[in-house]
Amino acid sequence: MKNVPSDIRGFAALEPWWRTRVSTGILCSGNGIDDLLRKVKQEDRKAFFLIDSVLEKQRLFAPLFDEQSKMLFNASASEPKTGDVDGIVEFLRSRDSLPDVIVGVGGGSTMDLAKAVGICLANPGKARDYQGYGMDLKNGPPVWVLPTLNGTGAEITPIAVLRGPEKKLGINHPYAAPAAAVIDPRLSAGAKPFNRFFTMMDCYFHHYEIVKSTTSSADAVEDACDGLKLAREVLGSGVHDHDPENAIKSVMASILGGSSTIGGRVGAVHAISYGLSNSAPDLPHSVAVTISMLALQELYPDGYEDTVHFLEGSGFSRPKASEYGIGEGEIEKMTSVAMGMEKLWQSCFGRKWPEKASPAFVHDIYKRIVNG
Ligand code: NAD
Ligand code: ZN
Repeated sequence: MKNVPSDIRGFAALEPWWRTRVSTGILCSGNGIDDLLRKVKQEDRKAFFLIDSVLEKQRLFAPLFDEQSKMLFNASASEPKTGDVDGIVEFLRSRDSLPDVIVGVGGGSTMDLAKAVGICLANPGKARDYQGYGMDLKNGPPVWVLPTLNGTGAEITPIAVLRGPEKKLGINHPYAAPAAAVIDPRLSAGAKPFNRFFTMMDCYFHHYEIVKSTTSSADAVEDACDGLKLAREVLGSGVHDHDPENAIKSVMASILGGSSTIGGRVGAVHAISYGLSNSAPDLPHSVAVTISMLALQELYPDGYEDTVHFLEGSGFSRPKASEYGIGEGEIEKMTSVAMGMEKLWQSCFGRKWPEKASPAFVHDIYKRIVNG
């Protein structure tokens, strides 16, 4: 991989560092907020801004809060729900005219919310009707994103993950990919070290699992190898201070996480995490995947060791399922959810996955998690 720039000027001049073709226009910026607002003005857009409410306290983001057409989303309270999407779509339809661009400003939660609103505006059903794959959908207004927390890759993926009444599942459709992403590494400076750490752990797991996958494309694996190296460097050096070079590495690793997801597929860590997430409304995805990896020492020994090393080095305790209300009573349900993740088990074990990922194998993993 090319050299990582050490300062923001070098970052703004950076050539593409990913190989997979992505449909999102990516702008590397040293001043993302001004660049985003300039783009809205130059293109004479009627933009609607969806902004993580936590950013209101940070002076840097003040120009965005001056915008008239906006709504705040409290990502600290919950990951986005299908009902949040329906409420915003209803509000937008009740106004005199629809926006011609939706702008999402925040972490993966707020960006996914914006992506889901964009697609649901153009389609008659409720958001929960579109959770899944291969739906026949109409394209909505373009969605532009400004990530303020890096690692999920949501800034470029064609996936909008939502918590629905029945399940946590993405709207997976090419039209869900943002049209434009303005990337500015400085914007995550105000995030808590806890959030920078765990969202980068999710990034590490995406890369790790895609590298180990039996079904990922060659380009995806190459992008994931570069992303894995960057994520390791960031997580291994501590996240407590917002170091500019680490911030650049984080945004680069996050984009690679998105690009490698396009031709790649994650594995057992994510399959197990979906069972956990479905049983715990307050469990952040980034923590769920960490809990999963801590129970997969035999399957992913080096991933397990890295995880322990990153947690200890950064001074975070091992997250536990019980802290999120998950107990013995949930094991059956979680096993059934995880068993439904066939593509992920195939990615992990290959075509003969049913011989390895049996219900007893998965049940045992949850037993370890619940008792851990
Ligand atoms: P997040 O958006 O949920 O944010 C985590 C916390 O950090 C929140 O409290 C938020 O308010 C805060 N925060 C964000 N930016 C901040 C800043 N600059 N300053 C202060 N606080 C800030 O976290 P995330 O990990 O980026 O996103 C998680 C969501 O993304 C989950 O719903 C997960 O399922 C989803 N996800 C989506 C994809 C995809 O491809 N679409 C991939 C992985 C995960
Ligand atoms: Zn993930």
